[in-house]
Amino acid sequence: MELPAKKPKPKCPACDDAELSMAKNEGCTVYRCKFCEGTWIGDKELAFLKMVKYKRFDPKEIVKVKILREWKMTDAALPGERHCPFCSVLMARTHYEDIPAIVIDKCAGPKKCGQWLGRGDLERIQINERAKEDKWWS
Ligand SMILES: [Zn+2]
Ligand SMILES: [Zn+2]
Repeated sequence: MELPAKKPKPKCPACDDAELSMAKNEGCTVYRCKFCEGTWIGDKELAFLKMVKYKRFDPKEIVKVKILREWKMTDAALPGERHCPFCSVLMARTHYEDIPAIVIDKCAGPKKCGQWLGRGDLERIQINERAKEDKWWS
């Protein structure tokens, strides 16, 4: 994902008129909103961060992820439609495969710019992937 020069800063898809700031997350470039603390991340970056092995997680977060896996989500509780901060197309909403409570808004345009994750969800996805690999919950 590349941001062309001289363009205005991308806007948070979840907040009205808040700008996203470029940030580094374990070596990957992501975009963050300082208001809602959500994260914009590209497909390659997300695939990479899902495979991170060395990270230490907060034990409380690990317990939370285990509980979240059991949650059933109804679409009625979800926020409204969101637009891609880079190409403005309406994003496609999905639930993370193992944790339906994690809602992912993904750019559905031809550029496939990336996806929007709510506060804390990137780390929860990392925890879930590690848990599967190391069989914490079986
Ligand atoms: Zn925001
Ligand atoms: Zn896009």
